[in-house]
Amino acid sequence: MRKDIHPEYFAAKVTCNCGNEFETGSTKENIRVEICSKCHPFYTGKQKAVAARGRIDRFNRRYGVNNED
Ligand SMILES: [Zn+2]
Repeated sequence: MRKDIHPEYFAAKVTCNCGNEFETGSTKENIRVEICSKCHPFYTGKQKAVAARGRIDRFNRRYGVNNED
């Protein structure tokens, strides 16, 4: 084992749990992450969408509309 070798620097492929893939510089060749800029609620605004849906459900109940039938 030679000790004078610098770690190799890869264009690492990052794979997210949501299926998104992107590249970053790293000494590892492959990286797995659980959350990325594409699926994080802060970036997607999904939390806002959920809140809006809650308002629609309340509106439907108040006026006797039931979308589940
Ligand atoms: Zn993701």
